[in-house]
Amino acid sequence: MEYRGYGISGSRTAALGFGGMRFESPQDTDKSAATVLRAFNKGITYFDTAPGYCEDQSEIIIGTAVKEMKKSGEPFTVSTKSNKPDGTVLRRELERSLKRLNVDVIDYYNCWYVLTLEDWERRKKGGAVEAILKAKEEGLIRHAAFSTHLPGPHIRQVIEEGFFEGVTLGYSVINSPFRQDGIRAAVENGMGVVVMNPLGGGIIPPNEKAFGFLKARPEQNMLEAALHYLLSDDRITVSLVGFRNDNDVDTAVEAVNSFFPYTADQMEYIESRVAREFNSFCTSCMYCNVCPEDIPVWAFMETHNHFRLKGGEDILGHLRGYWGTAIDALERCTSCRKCERACTQHLPILERFEELKAAVKTS
Ligand code: SF4
Ligand code: SF4
Repeated sequence: MEYRGYGISGSRTAALGFGGMRFESPQDTDKSAATVLRAFNKGITYFDTAPGYCEDQSEIIIGTAVKEMKKSGEPFTVSTKSNKPDGTVLRRELERSLKRLNVDVIDYYNCWYVLTLEDWERRKKGGAVEAILKAKEEGLIRHAAFSTHLPGPHIRQVIEEGFFEGVTLGYSVINSPFRQDGIRAAVENGMGVVVMNPLGGGIIPPNEKAFGFLKARPEQNMLEAALHYLLSDDRITVSLVGFRNDNDVDTAVEAVNSFFPYTADQMEYIESRVAREFNSFCTSCMYCNVCPEDIPVWAFMETHNHFRLKGGEDILGHLRGYWGTAIDALERCTSCRKCERACTQHLPILERFEELKAAVKTS
């Protein structure tokens, strides 16, 4: 396992983090906690969760594993979040997280999901930021951070206001140009950088044809290539992978254990390919799940990714077989653009709906 410093804070953590948002059996606390412990025993020390994840069971699962981790005497850290703008409500949520996680101090506490600069202003006005800093002063939080899907220059703006020691952001080859300036700003300000969605919402590993340029050596598989590329970027402290089960833990740990840093030339080549080709893919984060007409926007956007990668073949089959929906659902769209305003990647969703419809007609 690879270990790294969290900015200039003095804290250290494993470079592969446990993302607690994808447990396959969240109602089975013991089974899920066993997966967390398996990761801990393999050297993972950063465990990320949030209220609401996995039917609101994720904090409870991590907290169950924490009881066992404490007995080992080995180091581990927990990260959780609150998206509440109101400071009083955030404080209540933080106190509940402490109890659920079975800790006296939360190592990394994130002002969660800052989506726009207006939203950021609401967090400050509502008292959320103040409540986080007060909890830190009281010793309930070790490091204050924020999690965001903002574009790079906006992330820089928040960072330069100087409240936080770390940033958690969606980042992979698919969207790296879009967030690059945020990473630069974090490093300039001595902050820890935690990346979510390092596999591009699962798009990268199965698509060797499109992403094969990430491989530096022929024997690497695509999971290794995606992770090795991020691990070769020493500005990134932790790459968070969402684990469903023991097998996901084993394969990701194996990928990290076979890490061999890419050369500067290899990184430059990948970055030039990325800058040209991959800044506008849907990452399947599902934050566009806000449609008043109940259209599963993310399903159509993920299908659009496949359409771009593989051409127009079998769009209808993919929608039906993978998502249980049909192209006709788009007829309900009223063009209110609520989904576009919620999209973490700021993608032109309605334009893509039209492209899908046109591709279906001509196929
Ligand atoms: S623009 Fe269409 S798909 Fe998006 S939220 Fe509005 S009705 Fe739903
Ligand atoms: S369309 Fe945007 S918000 Fe929706 S899943 Fe894709 S990236 Fe996320």
